[in-house]
Amino acid sequence: MALRLLVALLSVFLPSCASAFEPPVSAASVAALSAGMRSDVRHETLPGDYVLLLPEPFVPPTPAKDPVYKIRTSRVAYIYERVPMKEAMVRRVVVHFESDDRDSAVRSARLIARLMRLHRDHFGRETTFRRSADVAHVWFVPTPPNAAHAGGETRDANVYVFAASRIMTSIELVRTVAHEWGHLTLPAARGYAEPENDAAGYLGERLYIKWLLEDRLTSYPDNNDAFAKGLSLYNDRQVTPLMQRWQEGGAASKILTGDATDAMDYYIGAVLDCDRAFGSKVVGEALFTITNTGAGDFLTALSATVSRQLETGLSVGLPAWIPMKAGKYEANNGGGVLLLKGMKSFRVPIEAGRVPFPRPSPGRFRITAPGWNKASVAPGVPDNHGMHSVHLKSVRDKETEATQ
Ligand SMILES: [Zn+2]
Repeated sequence: MALRLLVALLSVFLPSCASAFEPPVSAASVAALSAGMRSDVRHETLPGDYVLLLPEPFVPPTPAKDPVYKIRTSRVAYIYERVPMKEAMVRRVVVHFESDDRDSAVRSARLIARLMRLHRDHFGRETTFRRSADVAHVWFVPTPPNAAHAGGETRDANVYVFAASRIMTSIELVRTVAHEWGHLTLPAARGYAEPENDAAGYLGERLYIKWLLEDRLTSYPDNNDAFAKGLSLYNDRQVTPLMQRWQEGGAASKILTGDATDAMDYYIGAVLDCDRAFGSKVVGEALFTITNTGAGDFLTALSATVSRQLETGLSVGLPAWIPMKAGKYEANNGGGVLLLKGMKSFRVPIEAGRVPFPRPSPGRFRITAPGWNKASVAPGVPDNHGMHSVHLKSVRDKETEATQ
């Protein structure tokens, strides 16, 4: 009773300290968002114009209830993102948690801002949420008895991380958040019998962790040796082997059409390896033109994107499976010998399958049947100009032009 009286008195005499924090929906700029900010709300500016607002633990609670399990939370953190081509900042993510999960929730909020930056920089497009929601909510709650999954799940634009206190290592938290963030933000193949219907969660883990590892901003908050080691170990076990499987089998592999875990892994390997070979913008263009479909649809969409890119020229990391239409191409990269395999028939001037260039400059070859061809640096060529990539461009076919 005495305590209640004290709280009531405090709220009368110290109204500014006792009021809950009400964050703005948007602000004119990063500076405007921080100007006049209360001293009891922590304000972190993160790389790529992301801002995290975090009320201190003693700020009065912000009560909330999640829409699926109706679990109550009292603490919040907010992530703001810059509006494309403008200075304005807009609230994109609200993280809800209880005091015990504060550390995991704050680290996850910073990680989410980083995933949104990587998504924007790699795909060249802003993160969009399921059902076109403007704002996503992330809930740190105990595991509900009727939960469909153990570690977390995603329902519409609500991401759940269950029992965060059980998560012991930073990589386990990254894996859990990146998995759910994949469900929320990536359109991936569906219809698998195992490990789950939608491949977006496992694709999210692997693609986002690959990007985190490649991210040069090593000074990012929470980055430390254990964090980097965890990412690298995950990459060795869950990313590289999947890319290798695709490199060995390509689009002709029967595994691709299955619905078990190995089929999902094979599909994810294709996306990851194409991300390396063609770049994330090409992969993003393919991924975001299809929804709710199978693995084959990704390859069809990718083939269309690659063939469009080849008209103006595309740099391809080697080795790579490349979908190519019939026609004439030129290869250029200063010099080297490119080995082409997999096509039903082709014509190159010097030796079947080998494209030396520059000789004449650049090396030209003709694909006579459309399909996937594997391009790699020719083995046994002593000084192959240290080739790691090749610049390919489809060229106007004078013979076809003449007959039209
Ligand atoms: Zn999942």
